[in-house]
Amino acid sequence: MKAQPKASHFIDGEWVEDAAGAEIQVLYPATGEVIARLHEATPAVIERALASAALAQQAWGRMRPVDRARVLSKAAALIRERGEELAQLETLDTGKPIQETRVADWPSGADALEYFAGLAPTVTGETIPLGQDMVYTLREPLGVCVGIGAWNYPSQIACWKSAPALAMGNAMVFKPSEVTPLGALQLAQIYIEAGLPAGLFNVVQGRGAAGASLISDPRVAKVSLTGSVPTGQKVYAKAAEGLRHVTMELGGKSPLIIFDDASLEDAVGAAMLANFYSSGQVCSNGTRVFVQKGLKDQFLARLAARAVKIRMGDPQDDETQMGPLVSALQLEKVTGYIARAKAEGARLVTGGGRGAANDGWFVEPTVFADVTDQMELAREEVFGPVMAVLDFETEEEVIARANATDFGLAAGVFTRDITRAHRVIGQLQAGTCWINAYNLTPVEAPFGGAKMSGVGRENGHAAIEHYSQVKSVYLGLGPVDAPY
Ligand code: NAD
Repeated sequence: MKAQPKASHFIDGEWVEDAAGAEIQVLYPATGEVIARLHEATPAVIERALASAALAQQAWGRMRPVDRARVLSKAAALIRERGEELAQLETLDTGKPIQETRVADWPSGADALEYFAGLAPTVTGETIPLGQDMVYTLREPLGVCVGIGAWNYPSQIACWKSAPALAMGNAMVFKPSEVTPLGALQLAQIYIEAGLPAGLFNVVQGRGAAGASLISDPRVAKVSLTGSVPTGQKVYAKAAEGLRHVTMELGGKSPLIIFDDASLEDAVGAAMLANFYSSGQVCSNGTRVFVQKGLKDQFLARLAARAVKIRMGDPQDDETQMGPLVSALQLEKVTGYIARAKAEGARLVTGGGRGAANDGWFVEPTVFADVTDQMELAREEVFGPVMAVLDFETEEEVIARANATDFGLAAGVFTRDITRAHRVIGQLQAGTCWINAYNLTPVEAPFGGAKMSGVGRENGHAAIEHYSQVKSVYLGLGPVDAPY
């Protein structure tokens, strides 16, 4: 098998296997071929992961931040050195074209390690004068954090969660998605090579039940999930039983609003990036593309012309621009949405089929026009390369319609009128917004959702607050004034 790791889990600095766990087959999405066989974590494996994390965290949390930072920087350098090999593995695990995995997945993970390495030693507390006495504050680690990943950016997610967690002195037990379990194991190995003490980043495999068993353990202080809204609701509820901290990075149905005065080429390019990158399997995608009536015909014509040129095919080929969906299940979901969109009366502009697909789970870049707010395609997250184009006339109308959803992950506006751009963005209910750009998520910028799309933020200074807690220390400098 092409991508068989040394063992299923990585715990306390070692590869760990327990064949008693149910099998997980890892399939290459372009062919359906089995590329690795792993086992789910048994209760004994979960126990070992949590126990070693809890023990290792004690010394790590007391280290100088600059010493922790050095380890993260070294790990980032190792990721960059092994960039090609890691990109190849990510392509096998996810089916994403090598063009993307070379520049987006691991490189953005390495950015996070570098960024939080730089930030960690700068985190300080406050001194609060109280006349004679004073209070000072310390930002302390939470303890053992659990990270649970989705399958769309498996290695980036493992980095985005572990980098701030480790930088702030926590340990992390990470459970990747059972669909794409391979990248996180490489990260665990890299951390050890970079000098991270054993136990601080453990990877355990498994489906939802394995994730659930991690959350309810009393040693766990925090859970950070990237996944769908229904999973988020379950994980949040379970975390609440132990009053654990949470970060929830969930789904979306984000609006991308294009006004008549926008640059046509830029707006078309952004709409394509916002729907077809990673075969549309991106949480922040702008899947409701609202186009003002005056630009509609030109926009659709240019979009159709550019979309048919997208090169779909073998993800390992340097020239391929779009690969398959991640799994047979995802293919079934996406093709179901396409069939129902047609039945509901949306107009198919381009795509809609499987292309010249071989055995893989391919879907063509697909555009529907004349989509209305009530259609399923405008309400539900498809998570595939399916763009819904909706018409609008006025600014006021489009803001109301853009916000008429329970989701609130992201939003974008294209216009040359800067006043309008800021005015509109100011009224959109979304955690992550773009003006004349889309889906750029540099590590420096906080990322996360409003409403049902999430709680907390990853990246930026904001992430530091979600992986630490404040201790207030009252310093009495005078005699104690007891009234008895
Ligand atoms: P999912 O919700 O099916 O699974 C996510 C993870 O949760 C997996 O590791 C899964 O094993 C685990 N899980 C499932 N049930 C669980 C339970 N009861 N307790 C604990 N863990 C459990 O999501 P997915 O299909 O892997 O990913 C796609 C979804 O993720 C989409 O909705 C997408 O929008 C979202 N997503 C969000 C972001 C973001 O940053 N906001 C990023 C990527 C993906």
